[in-house]
Amino acid sequence: MTSATALEERHGAHNYHPLDVVLSHGEGVWVTDTDGRRYLDCLAGYSSLNFGHRHPALVEAVQTQLERITLTSRAFHHDQLGHFCAELAQLAGKDMVLPMNTGAEAVESAIKVARKWGYEVKGVPADRATIVVADGNFHGRTTTIVGFSTDPQARSGFGPFPGGFRHVAFGDSAAMAAAIDETTVAVLIEPIQGEAGVVVPPEGYLADVRRFCDENGVLFIADEIQSGLGRTGTTFACDLWDVSPDVYVLGKALGGGILPVSAVIADASVLGVLRPGDHGSTFGGNPLACAVARAVIELLADATHQQGAATRGAHLHRRLTDLVGSGVVATRGVGLWAGVDIDPAIATGREVCEDLAALGVLAKDTHGSTIRLAPPLTINEVEIDLVVDSLADVVARRSSTEVEVLA
Ligand SMILES: *Cc1c(COP(=O)(O)O)cnc(C)c1O
Repeated sequence: MTSATALEERHGAHNYHPLDVVLSHGEGVWVTDTDGRRYLDCLAGYSSLNFGHRHPALVEAVQTQLERITLTSRAFHHDQLGHFCAELAQLAGKDMVLPMNTGAEAVESAIKVARKWGYEVKGVPADRATIVVADGNFHGRTTTIVGFSTDPQARSGFGPFPGGFRHVAFGDSAAMAAAIDETTVAVLIEPIQGEAGVVVPPEGYLADVRRFCDENGVLFIADEIQSGLGRTGTTFACDLWDVSPDVYVLGKALGGGILPVSAVIADASVLGVLRPGDHGSTFGGNPLACAVARAVIELLADATHQQGAATRGAHLHRRLTDLVGSGVVATRGVGLWAGVDIDPAIATGREVCEDLAALGVLAKDTHGSTIRLAPPLTINEVEIDLVVDSLADVVARRSSTEVEVLA
């Protein structure tokens, strides 16, 4: 019998380089491989599994909806969409929701909305709209989006790319102010850059961006696809600095780790520029997606998950800080979200993740020697200690190997 990985190797496009584990089951923060080995999932589907694997309330919402209706297309109304839009808009403190499926689609949709808003409301001359983006951004994988990525591998071989994007250093308020002019329709940033290694901007940065946008009639678009929905100890990362963007882009955890569900959320003065036929998606806002997202929104309603992420996140960061100096160069992050820079002299991020997997902890490197920890928000303190102890163990062993090699 051919193994699942051999089939994947032969018939699946090689656009990923997964760790050598074959998962077949997941429950809460734990996953099990085909040999029955258990692992603590510290990637959580890049923050799609904020509530863990197969959260009972989310599974139940899907099962209930499966018995009713799953897809209508937007050619007809269905009885979930209005509730989903109203509940999500309320969570974000906005009027309206544009439902899509994947994160990249929602980012693309936000770009389209911002441009149309720029031409129709701000009065930017046709086809002159610019959008300011940050160096080190990650917003998805479509041709437009990789076109304004600063990661050479994301772009290389995929041009030509659409224009209309300007780059500034992330966290640099003066650079942001200088990049905005009368053609600028939006600033598009991740409030905390996830793929870049969980990079938290300096205090005051998001408030500065908010102010520049207000002063210049520019939309502040916050890509909260990875940072949003509880991860940072707040519902949105922007809440950490009491900043309300004009447009939220959500995805990942909005689908509860079950379905791709994404959305653009804004006031009617912005999303109102879309009229029938301007934009669409066959699957966007389907009944099954709406049902699971509504259950996700309900899980966030009493802030228990957000508070848990804040308190247990503080524990995670305290423990990680203690590793700095012994094989770990630096750690960053907020809530249950951490970037850990391993000393490149002892190991690559990939090697550390391989060692961690052998100890029963699944994590993912981002770039070079940086690994990201983003466990489900339901992780408890004992499990956090297990993760940090395993990491300490791995870097200690790698450090001693390095000494032997040098000697
Ligand atoms: C994952 C991610 C995306 C893209 O989402 P997909 O569902 O993979 O298309 C966009 N922005 C951010 C910040 C992300 O983390």
